[in-house]
Amino acid sequence: MVRIAPWTLRFWVRVGFRLRAATEDDGELLMLVETTASVVGCSGCGTRARSKGRRRTRVRDLPVGGRPTVLVWCMGVWRCPEAACDVGSWSETSPLIRPRAVLSERARQEAARRVGEDGVSVAAVARGLGVGWSTVMDAVREFGEPLVEEQLGSLAGVRSLGMDEHRWRSRPDRWATGFVDLESGRLLEVVQGRSGAAARGFLASETADVRAGVGVVALDPWRGYLTPARELLPEATVTVDRFHMVRLANQVVTEVRQRTQQDVMGHRGRTGDPLYCLPGRVCGPAGWPTG
Ligand SMILES: [Zn+2]
Repeated sequence: MVRIAPWTLRFWVRVGFRLRAATEDDGELLMLVETTASVVGCSGCGTRARSKGRRRTRVRDLPVGGRPTVLVWCMGVWRCPEAACDVGSWSETSPLIRPRAVLSERARQEAARRVGEDGVSVAAVARGLGVGWSTVMDAVREFGEPLVEEQLGSLAGVRSLGMDEHRWRSRPDRWATGFVDLESGRLLEVVQGRSGAAARGFLASETADVRAGVGVVALDPWRGYLTPARELLPEATVTVDRFHMVRLANQVVTEVRQRTQQDVMGHRGRTGDPLYCLPGRVCGPAGWPTG
């Protein structure tokens, strides 16, 4: 039998399973496990159940020793001997392995953690577990979405607020507006759309006192956000966020250069033209301007 790390064995013993056999197949570890339950009562009448044998189900678990691992669970099948009882037969269940699951619960949880906390791509986690992309993504959604909900916050205590649009590539309703506490970097809320109404909806949900605490608001320079920001954050200095400011500045430098090029030379810039050789990019606060 293949050698299994003691902590893996201890885990399964602790949760009521025993390892019957382990083998390797094509780089994967197969562990044959079963529960240690030998006396089971009927959930309907409490009578001691009779065994009808076992059936096998396969589920993928956390890698063991770096190998993708498959648990082959020999599930106990039981029946109630009481003729008057309606329960009949049933297969045992475990909170660690959902019915018809592809991954064990701990593997699903770890997959979501690796994507959410460690920043590993869904595809890489899926490869390591030997499952498909959508299996991991389902786990990320299930375990990750409540965490995001929990962490979304209000404007209370926020002194510098960032409002920016975001575009989802895969969604038909592509635009969203995000609100960020610029001091802590914490995401406060994401609302659908990039309209003034979307921004207004979030800001208006806060009390006037809370909104008055915002001293600076950095906007994506899209005019839709400006009106609600001015109206609902009356104490805040409205600024443009750095990324967009540098991009706008670059755009202006390019336009001036192209215009001057045409005025002076009468044609578009070519290699060797004086303006063409000038460094023309605004790089950001540290090196700004460079040209
Ligand atoms: Zn029964």
